[in-house]
Amino acid sequence: MVITIVMYMDNMFSLLDISEVKQPVKADLKSVIPVYSKILNEGVVREPIVVEETTNVALKGYETLEALNLLSVEKVPVMKIDRSKVEVRSLHTVSPVRLEDILIAGLRGPKLPYNSFKIQIDAQIPALEVSLSDLNVRDIKRSNLRVYYDTLELLYKDWPTPLVRLRSFSSANRDVWAKLEWANPYSNSIKDRVGWSMMMAALEDGILGDIIYEATSTNTGIAITAIANLLGKRTKLFLPKTIQRASDFFLKVLGADVIRLPVGLTVEAIGEVDARSKTDGATHLNQFENDANLKVHLKYTAREIDEQLKSVGLKPDCIIGGLGTSGHMSAISIYFKSKYGSSVKVISVQPAPNEVIPGIRRIETGMKWIHWTEFDQIVDVTRREAIEGVLAVARKEGLIIGLSAGAVFSAFNRIARDEGVYVLIFPDSGYKYSEQFEEYFRGLGEF
Ligand code: PLP
Repeated sequence: MVITIVMYMDNMFSLLDISEVKQPVKADLKSVIPVYSKILNEGVVREPIVVEETTNVALKGYETLEALNLLSVEKVPVMKIDRSKVEVRSLHTVSPVRLEDILIAGLRGPKLPYNSFKIQIDAQIPALEVSLSDLNVRDIKRSNLRVYYDTLELLYKDWPTPLVRLRSFSSANRDVWAKLEWANPYSNSIKDRVGWSMMMAALEDGILGDIIYEATSTNTGIAITAIANLLGKRTKLFLPKTIQRASDFFLKVLGADVIRLPVGLTVEAIGEVDARSKTDGATHLNQFENDANLKVHLKYTAREIDEQLKSVGLKPDCIIGGLGTSGHMSAISIYFKSKYGSSVKVISVQPAPNEVIPGIRRIETGMKWIHWTEFDQIVDVTRREAIEGVLAVARKEGLIIGLSAGAVFSAFNRIARDEGVYVLIFPDSGYKYSEQFEEYFRGLGEF
């Protein structure tokens, strides 16, 4: 859909580089998502961001600005306003917010809390209609020769991760594609994206201390420790007892402090990790609650899949993935349902009751973002089925996928019809899970 700018009333609007527009508040992501969805659905921005004319600090349209950032635009429509036309009503009684405070928060930070003030503008803000394509949505492209100046670039400048057609499971009417998230450099998993996003957000907010505590089932811990090493910080990681022993060694290689807690699920450790981080003055990033998790998948993972399929003339009919924090599948559902409506089915996979599959867990154990969107179906998979999924992919396609990826494949196998475009999200490879494979083969009497 190409809609050009239809209205530039009296030159009141201009397009500014998004980097020039200063966000003074920490916009609440739950309030941003409806704006993000609407813009993605319509392909059009209908309100300008009102900015103070000398500083370009945003005074209205915080949700739109954040939504446009998540949509990777280079330009944003702004309406400049003289500060004499601005009236600030503080909602903070203890230390009232003045216009000066908002401008300083935008220019230097730290950002002000969402809803800590209201702004009245003594001017009409007329409607506008600017198409997303006029805002120069950034291309998803990596350097052709793959030369990187540091390992962080190797992470985010190497995206998109591959999308590969699984030929042996495809047919004349069915295309099956796998998104290979092990092609991330640190944890060889989808969690590098989240570790990077949370660490960068904490750095930007000025809350990243010298030591970081996190409850992890391995992958997030590896990602955070790797990035902490680059920044000269340390990590202490809390792993449930159910996770394979190999994780301790990988984490030790990276220099992390590892503590095993007597819990079955990573999420059950959050209370203790939070309490200890407060006592010890450590930073707790908390992947289960930290919106930087959802954001990185909205901005990159989901859009990559869309652009990659578009490049071969396809649109997905069904996307299948596993649920841990629910970060990547919630973002994928928000993105694709906003853009294509119910024509894209989004299916999530959880372990069957009392089953342990590393990286994923059941919805009733509590997830934040899953409630912000819809899923068409939730499929239960046993650990045995997940491992059989791993074997099926390895023996037909030659790829040794991880257990949660095996669960995704198993769910696909159960629900797929013989037509349509399917995308399977494979969060990591199988190499961390040799203990689970050993146990499986022993159970079959093959060892
Ligand atoms: N699979 C693996 C191997 C993981 O490590 C994780 C998350 O830790 C997931 C799946 C679930 O991803 P998410 O937390 O985005 O729901």
